[in-house]
Amino acid sequence: MGSATINSPVTTPFTLHVIPRDQHTISRKDISPNALRVLYRLRESGFGAYLVGGAVRDLLVDGRPKDFDVATDATPEQVKQLFRNCRLIGRRFRLAHVVFGREIIEVATFRANSDDGSGDREVENGMLVRDNVYGSIEDDAVRRDFTCNALYYAIEDFSVRDYVGGFEDVMARRMRLIGDPEQRYREDPVRMLRAVRLAAKLGFEIDGPTAEPIPRLATLLNEAAPARLFEEVLKLFLAGHGVASFEGLERYGLLQVLFPESAAALKSNRTGALRRMVIAGLRSTDERVANDEPVSPAFLFALLLWPAFCRTLIGLQKQGLAPEEAQRRAADRVTLHQLSTIALPRRFSLPMQEIWLLQSRFASRQRKRVFRTLTHPRFRAAFDFLVLRQVASPEHEQDIAFWQEAQQQNGRELESSLESIHAEVDAEQDGEAPRRRRRRRRRPGGAVSGE
Ligand code: ATP
Ligand code: MG
Repeated sequence: MGSATINSPVTTPFTLHVIPRDQHTISRKDISPNALRVLYRLRESGFGAYLVGGAVRDLLVDGRPKDFDVATDATPEQVKQLFRNCRLIGRRFRLAHVVFGREIIEVATFRANSDDGSGDREVENGMLVRDNVYGSIEDDAVRRDFTCNALYYAIEDFSVRDYVGGFEDVMARRMRLIGDPEQRYREDPVRMLRAVRLAAKLGFEIDGPTAEPIPRLATLLNEAAPARLFEEVLKLFLAGHGVASFEGLERYGLLQVLFPESAAALKSNRTGALRRMVIAGLRSTDERVANDEPVSPAFLFALLLWPAFCRTLIGLQKQGLAPEEAQRRAADRVTLHQLSTIALPRRFSLPMQEIWLLQSRFASRQRKRVFRTLTHPRFRAAFDFLVLRQVASPEHEQDIAFWQEAQQQNGRELESSLESIHAEVDAEQDGEAPRRRRRRRRRPGGAVSGE
């Protein structure tokens, strides 16, 4: 390993470690051909050209990167001149996107993380609000979050350049923040979620000093932009490692900040049934991702906020509200409260609520209602949800069997099986106030109970 000491403007001396080609596992055949094209073109034109960030990290742990980012000392304008298929994006910090059909290679000019007094970088209450100064490769490395995200694969000699000890950390499967952890979380609280998410995704441990401030600083997340938190939640839970993400969020006190009402409901649920249901739902989502099956944000949020919904609903029912009204209000209230932390767009919150509200319809066998439920656009998702609820309380077995069959039957078969159910119920009811019983069946019941 070659080594040289560089004095970065952040005042900490950083030692460059060069890991030569024969001492790491990154091979050009695992790199997107388009990224290689960009790297070679920059290099031929006399610029420094490196693969950087998540791609280098993922390649070192044998993962398949989902995108390939490039870092260079060429300015965005210089990059644009080299590639016809290039557009510049971003107002505050210009980035070059080199477009190859559906693949975009992001090319970023080395950026510094130090305040040079030009006003291009602003810190408010310790939070970074603008970040807009070009710098050297060392500057670019130290402004990144975790050491494993700050490795550079150089196209000139196929070596890995490491300014922050990231290579050793990746080998030890360790997440470590660059610099002072508390300060780095204060600058950008979302880094706490990134720590948990990347540890879950990579199977890494969060290093002691990097983990320690998280429970203490967790509430800083309330200051993060709700739209950014929504994106981050999707990455936490819909990328194939949802169970591990959930456990990490619980462990570091982040769940109660992201989903306060659900966390409270989970805590007060003594049997642990609700938590079992959430974990089962996340596990099946992880399996779907592994099998390349589609997953939906609406279903995910229905699952994560179900404990909050149940708890709110019980409260409203205790106040004497009719079941249907209580359900609608509980759904609206939980959605509204959640919006103050996470910006869940309406195109997801509406189907989420439909999944909840359909649950109470599964108890009904009334002909018209059965057909309406079956043809509801959210039927399939709501039925899958019912199957999950069975994990929390085994009282849904008969409903599951009925709707399972109903889906497979054609209209005529279903008509006749409903007729026979009604005949049975009528026979049972003979002589015991049939009128009242029947009317009650027609009304949607409070099937969503305190499970
Ligand atoms: P993923 O596998 O989810 O894409 P990633 O590490 O590539 O993980 P990105 O959000 O694509 O995550 O970010 C690319 C790189 O930008 C990171 O590897 C890291 O070096 C840097 N980065 C991202 N977010 C931050 C942040 N909040 N603070 C500092 N550096 C960051
Ligand atoms: Mg990435």
